[in-house]
Amino acid sequence: MEAFFDLPMGMLTKIPVEIRNTRLGLEAFDDLLIERPAHHDVYFLAFPFDSDLMVGFVGGDFAWEMSAAGEAAAVDFVIDRLVSIFGSDLRGHVGRSHMTNWGAERYVRGAYAAARPGKAKAREILTQPVGERIFFAGEHLAGPLIQTCGGARLSGEAAARQVIAALA
Ligand SMILES: Cc1cc2nc3c(=O)[nH]c(=O)nc-3n(C[C@H](O)[C@H](O)[C@H](O)COP(=O)(O)OP(=O)(O)OC[C@H]3O[C@@H](n4cnc5c(N)ncnc54)[C@H](O)[C@@H]3O)c2cc1C
Repeated sequence: MEAFFDLPMGMLTKIPVEIRNTRLGLEAFDDLLIERPAHHDVYFLAFPFDSDLMVGFVGGDFAWEMSAAGEAAAVDFVIDRLVSIFGSDLRGHVGRSHMTNWGAERYVRGAYAAARPGKAKAREILTQPVGERIFFAGEHLAGPLIQTCGGARLSGEAAARQVIAALA
């Protein structure tokens, strides 16, 4: 139980905004990081795969705040940041927009696990089964691939091998 407490879900929220008929002088997959006071930073992935999307990312406490504030507030924030750099003409190019809200998903409740400071050992503890009957798997136990889909899969395969060995 302590290991679960030490490894809570962290948050990453994506806020994609459609920008029509302009590339703002950027290339597909360009990175743009806008740093702001109080860790209210926003990172943009520009026009991935040459789509019309500027994908905003916010993380950590600010992402939880954003989720609580809701999609309209998050989209306003992202557009205001873009306008502060590219000018107010940009507003005329804005199309559809969205915010992921994994924190509100009943069975997910965040983006991926983030160990509390000094508590990374919790990951190791959870790789051990409980009473030879309960086996844990997921991105949080994926060693160097934590926080990724690939890591989650490899962790699941490792847990399956543990179960097979226990049943043999
Ligand atoms: C915004 C965002 C962007 C990301 N980008 C990337 C990326 O670019 N590349 C990458 O590799 N990874 C990315 N990730 C991380 C990746 O999505 C996760 O690491 C991965 O999905 C974790 O897999 P998992 O199987 O451990 O957990 P999950 O995918 O959360 O699977 C857990 C499953 O258990 C189910 N479940 C939970 N509780 C119960 C219950 N009580 N009963 C029954 N079922 C239950 C859930 O419904 C869910 O299906 C991103 C994550 C977020 C949130």
